[in-house]
Amino acid sequence: MSPVIYPTTNFTATEQLCLTHGEGIYVYDSDGNKYIEGLASLWCTSLGYSNTEVIDAITTQLNKLPFSHTFGGKTHAPIMELADKLRAMVPVEDAYFFFGNSGSDANDSHYKMLRYYFNAIGKPEKRKIITRERGYHGVTVAAGSMTSLPANLAHFDAPLEALGVLRAESPHYYTNRKGNETEAQFVDRIIQALEDQILAESPDTIAAMIVEPITGASGVIVPPEGYYEKLQAVLRKHDILVWADEVITGFGRTGNDFGCTTMGIQPDLMTFAKQLSSAYFPISAAVIPGWMYEAMIEQTNQVGVFGHGYTYSGHPAACAAALKTLEIYERDSLFSHAAEVGDYLQAQLREVFIEHPLVGEVRGKGLIAALELVSNKTTGASFDKGLAGATAQKFCQDNGLLLRAVGGNALALCPPLIITRDEVDALMGKLKAAIDSTYAELKD
Ligand code: PLP
Repeated sequence: MSPVIYPTTNFTATEQLCLTHGEGIYVYDSDGNKYIEGLASLWCTSLGYSNTEVIDAITTQLNKLPFSHTFGGKTHAPIMELADKLRAMVPVEDAYFFFGNSGSDANDSHYKMLRYYFNAIGKPEKRKIITRERGYHGVTVAAGSMTSLPANLAHFDAPLEALGVLRAESPHYYTNRKGNETEAQFVDRIIQALEDQILAESPDTIAAMIVEPITGASGVIVPPEGYYEKLQAVLRKHDILVWADEVITGFGRTGNDFGCTTMGIQPDLMTFAKQLSSAYFPISAAVIPGWMYEAMIEQTNQVGVFGHGYTYSGHPAACAAALKTLEIYERDSLFSHAAEVGDYLQAQLREVFIEHPLVGEVRGKGLIAALELVSNKTTGASFDKGLAGATAQKFCQDNGLLLRAVGGNALALCPPLIITRDEVDALMGKLKAAIDSTYAELKD
């Protein structure tokens, strides 16, 4: 056994898949088996594998200037170019970008910048963050505290809890509705509960609410129509900032540039990672509006510097990877491609699985989707301990399709954005066979 501590892994499990290389949407294991990477690895390899343009951009940069830090008076061309490029893309006013290495650290950076900002404007007591049940925002100390998945919170004291993390209800109608409640009634109830929670805590103590436009890691939850409109109205009314965590939904995934566009969110803050560089190099961005940056200037002057940064903030090779990735998204119209092939995928999933006895709900937008696997289609009852999710994931793998069971018994799909219709057909064939096998195994 190799002395590696693996993330989100059952240490006593013995089976591991060792991947060796990839091409397009396919990856290969050490026994030579070929798989469709149906989750873009971990929701990130948007351009697929072996993209020589991105690899060349990285190696060119490595040959030129492999590294330079960006602390205290230093910069380099790729970081400035990337910030300019992103500024022209994001729906944030006069955006400024703090670069890091992961979605988790970007969310932690945001938490600190919020502290700077609210201190700067004389509202230091505004420090609580609203997050949602089943939200995933990473695993570092601040981001981990805002995450609400049981496995990530276990044995971790979620230190931000002490300063205030409010957990609002998950907007998942299928699992959280009460009785015969309609979608509209469900939305009204949970938005009212949120407002009650805000008033009980006092709006003057709440800085921001963090949301994944479409929740990824806990099961690809697409909130009902009207949810975000009402949510934002309540947040604006109480002067609470809207913080969109676009680590999964950013850059074409939902069929638009950002999940915010798809879901009608006007964010104050945004978080990016994963598809920013198609995972060819680790990079993240914490995006803030110009008015927040301006306010922070005086605060930073008081202590002399903005006292935050990672050695690899804006690593030149990471910026080069991101710049080339963004260039390819634009040149190859990959966001509209994702919209078109995504519509096809969503239609296929509904056609094939809506009546399937093992499938309680088919959900998703663009090229992100999930099947909720249930033991009773009428009641929506689930299987214990993610049994159906794990079984289906295994059957998919045996059939040459890599997917991931998330949030217990949901099977998530998030293929590279470059996937074609023919490849969606191939994926669907493998998925159907795997779901049928799972049903045959679990139905008694
Ligand atoms: N935020 C969201 C919405 C995510 O899905 C993830 C990771 O999946 C993160 C943050 C954390 O990103 P990272 O794993 O790069 O730290």
